[in-house]
Amino acid sequence: MSMAERRRITIIGAGPAGALMAIYLARGGYDVTVYERLPDPRIHGFTGGRSINLALSARGIAALAEVGLTQRVLENVIPMPGRMIHSPTGHLTFQPYSANPNDRINSVSRAGLSLILLEAAASHPNVKLLFDHRCVAIDFKKSSAAFARSASKDQATVDVDTVIGADGAFSAVRLQMMLNMDRLEYNQSYLEHGYKELTIPPAAQCGVDPGRFGGFAMNPNALHIWPRGGYMMIALPNQDRSFTCTCFWPFAGPTGFESLKTDADIPRFFEAHFPDAVPLMPTLVHDFKHNPTGSLVTVHCWPWHLSDKALLVGDAAHAIVPFYGQGMNCAFEDCSVLNQCISQHAPDWGSVFKEFAAQRKPNTDAIAEMALHNFIEMRDHTASRVFRMKKKFGQAMHRLFPQWFMPLYNMISFSTIPYAQAQRRAATQSRTLKFVGWFLLAAFAIVIGLVLTLP
Ligand SMILES: Cc1cc2nc3c(=O)[nH]c(=O)nc-3n(C[C@H](O)[C@H](O)[C@H](O)COP(=O)(O)OP(=O)(O)OC[C@H]3O[C@@H](n4cnc5c(N)ncnc54)[C@H](O)[C@@H]3O)c2cc1C
Repeated sequence: MSMAERRRITIIGAGPAGALMAIYLARGGYDVTVYERLPDPRIHGFTGGRSINLALSARGIAALAEVGLTQRVLENVIPMPGRMIHSPTGHLTFQPYSANPNDRINSVSRAGLSLILLEAAASHPNVKLLFDHRCVAIDFKKSSAAFARSASKDQATVDVDTVIGADGAFSAVRLQMMLNMDRLEYNQSYLEHGYKELTIPPAAQCGVDPGRFGGFAMNPNALHIWPRGGYMMIALPNQDRSFTCTCFWPFAGPTGFESLKTDADIPRFFEAHFPDAVPLMPTLVHDFKHNPTGSLVTVHCWPWHLSDKALLVGDAAHAIVPFYGQGMNCAFEDCSVLNQCISQHAPDWGSVFKEFAAQRKPNTDAIAEMALHNFIEMRDHTASRVFRMKKKFGQAMHRLFPQWFMPLYNMISFSTIPYAQAQRRAATQSRTLKFVGWFLLAAFAIVIGLVLTLP
């Protein structure tokens, strides 16, 4: 088949990246087949394992806008313009994310967003969605792939030309590329922390006056954080007026998941460390015992493509820890950049993939590093007065000199400045501020010295 004829694309994985990429490609006139290992959530409900809700911000919204889905998605989000910090005594402090009150991150249901994307993809006649199809092997030389199906317990082998691996952190496509390539570098590193999700139900179910926060047990317009130094709990609001709490704790040690061995240990630990949350969690012991503890992985690999045959996108190429709320936003941004590369270079798929990877790799490396750093900031620094003063100073500088100074959080969450550029700019800003600070201090000392030596 000539390159010009190759308009049939196979996507493995119908998560956020796979579903959105299918929409982009369908709009570009390509025939797309998406293979997903899980059952169809439109029929069977959502059975995906990871977080119940996600923070959607500027980069994700920009990509959704390109395929005309912003309004549908934003109709179903809860805006969070700042963090609500819960002290160990239950004292609350609201920290706005930005000097601009219109800047907010948005809590969105993973399942709801997934349904919107899948329905939008399915509405294109040139998109075929095949669920219960787990990719188990790809023969790149013969351009064929094998899929296992649990319902019929059989295996299907189909022809594939151009494969996009959007199958997440533990990508089967990546594994198949490794088996077929000489020098694919791969590194996965786990945090010593894991995560477990718990629930704060609507106000009426936990004895809070439903009139206080519109049916929620706490203020829904904030990302709640219980920072405890070394570990933390966060909570994001859901449309049904509940909150999903996520404990990010070490697996082992005195504040680790493994330290809670008996039923009685669970409320005792929460009373000691998150006392104001306990009355809001009537199913705490049950949830803690029955909800799984997930691990947190960062994946680096290179190259992301195999000639003109296969490309990795989203978590399959660069899984990151969730502390900047950027994994999905970054995966959506991947789709937007890949779409631009297709517009410029298709049907030369080798050039499309090469250009995409070259543009994205420095940026995804940068956000991987910043996400790890933000964990330390969230759990160790958000409670400190110095941190709050620094944030306020940064926001004041942004208000005074918007062209010159933009806090890093704003560049990551409220702009589409490439991640690597944002990281470099933040480092320069920080050096300049330090220099100005020392200069002012020295000037002040000289003035005081002069005043004291006056006769
Ligand atoms: C606790 C937690 C909280 C998070 N919070 C945020 C947040 O607030 N904001 C944010 O932007 N990101 C967040 N993330 C990150 C976000 O979930 C991921 O970055 C995002 O889901 C990546 O999308 P993806 O489509 O690349 O991969 P995935 O979401 O992993 O989707 C991959 C899809 O491929 C399918 N698949 C896998 N293997 C195969 C196979 N062999 N054959 C066929 N199909 C297969 C899977 O079933 C899945 O549907 C969070 C992650 C975690 C763990």
